[in-house]
Amino acid sequence: MADFDYDLFVIGGGSGGVRAARVAAGTGARVALAEDSRMGGTCVIRGCVPKKLMVFASAYHEDFADARAFGWDVAAGDFDWTRFSAQLGAELDRLEGVYRKLLHASQVEIFDLRARLADPHTVALSDGRRVRAKHILIATGGRPVRPALANAHLGMVSDDLFAMQRLPGSILIVGGGYIACEFAGILNGLGVDVTQFHRGAQILRGFDDEACGLIADGMRDKGVDLRLGTDIVEMTQADAGAVRVMGSDGSDRIYDAVLFATGRSPNTADLGLEAVGVAIGSRGEIVVDAYSQTNIPSVFAIGDVTDRVTLTPVAIREAMAFVETVFRGNPTPVDHDLIPSAVFTQPEFGTIGLSEQAARAREPVAIYATSFRPMQSAFAGRADRVLMKLVVSQATRRVLGCHIVAPQAGEMIQMVGIAIKMGATKEDFDRTVAVHPTMAEELVTLKTPVRMA
Ligand code: NDP
Repeated sequence: MADFDYDLFVIGGGSGGVRAARVAAGTGARVALAEDSRMGGTCVIRGCVPKKLMVFASAYHEDFADARAFGWDVAAGDFDWTRFSAQLGAELDRLEGVYRKLLHASQVEIFDLRARLADPHTVALSDGRRVRAKHILIATGGRPVRPALANAHLGMVSDDLFAMQRLPGSILIVGGGYIACEFAGILNGLGVDVTQFHRGAQILRGFDDEACGLIADGMRDKGVDLRLGTDIVEMTQADAGAVRVMGSDGSDRIYDAVLFATGRSPNTADLGLEAVGVAIGSRGEIVVDAYSQTNIPSVFAIGDVTDRVTLTPVAIREAMAFVETVFRGNPTPVDHDLIPSAVFTQPEFGTIGLSEQAARAREPVAIYATSFRPMQSAFAGRADRVLMKLVVSQATRRVLGCHIVAPQAGEMIQMVGIAIKMGATKEDFDRTVAVHPTMAEELVTLKTPVRMA
């Protein structure tokens, strides 16, 4: 023991790494953490948090219009990106400070340096120092990737969006995943002319088809020019930093900016992993077992770098399970089943469990669903529709999946997630009294299946 400087050395100060460091230190372990960028990682600095604040900013545009229908004499003025991004920057500085303070309070030693493995117990820091640790935890996250396309460097990735000096007048967003669809809604709401190319037949591959269809319709209704089955054929530099793009749909247009939201890759480069013999998978991810342990017993990995379920709360769960296993002597696997999540598209999407198509492939199901115009936006004269959908096993009556497209769907799915995680049946939903008048009450008043499949 004596020849180790630390019981735990964490590489990466994102959601997973910071949580693991703090909680391990709380068990009395000597802990250090290295981060070569800003503390907080993707979620806090260039992901979930600034994205959600941008979703809020973009939604005011509709709120002002709706307020008029509710009798208020208001009109939206212009959106000031400079003012908003200064406020956003200040908020991120504050949050980064909170993260640092929490680490200090937990007595975690912070190295604002790049770190790489030198051997199974040694970390080499970018200032030349080497430290030894009994356990090393890699929590280096992931990064956005551009497609292999000539001149792809002309396009931005999501990291760049938060550092924009001004909003573009027009943008082409490439991709149909979370990031593409969320930013299509955000930028559209902020007044940018948004075109979105997605190579597939429907956005948000892997999610419930019916929900994705309603989200795509809603995005189009709000003004996003969403083109499915469409990809870039050629992109070239145009004047004044603009980009000329020829699309596979025959379009030829100059956009002020292009955003590639075509996926993320684990950050495994230049960490010394190959030299130490840490197994890397085909997607560049660190291969781990159910306890987040790599093939090198002293080296563990959590979060996006392991490419299991790449969501912040999952990285945090993996961090907690790692500490429980290694520092509390209580081997705890991570439960990756039935994870509720939200996609902050406009309209918003909350989802848990199996999509209808995945459930049908597995067993006979009963589908309960309703789609309607909710009270608040209908009153304001908007055509927005919401979807409340339950996928139910015919054999056990358990609710296998729930898919909500509606304002605040993320808030709703968190609550529904508890019932579904507990194994609720459709009859458990039915015996719950409705909360009236709400959108969510429809989830407990769905009487007849719309189809048996
Ligand atoms: P996704 O993997 O979700 O989506 C990537 C999209 O890009 C897909 O539509 C994919 O198409 C398309 N694509 C991939 N390669 C190419 C290419 N060469 N040319 C054209 N299109 C391409 O990645 P994101 O970047 O959107 O998000 C990364 C991860 O971040 C998510 O998986 C999620 O885990 C996390 N995230 C979660 C959020 C949330 O919880 N709200 C928000 C943002 C991110 P196809 O479907 O055909 O493969």
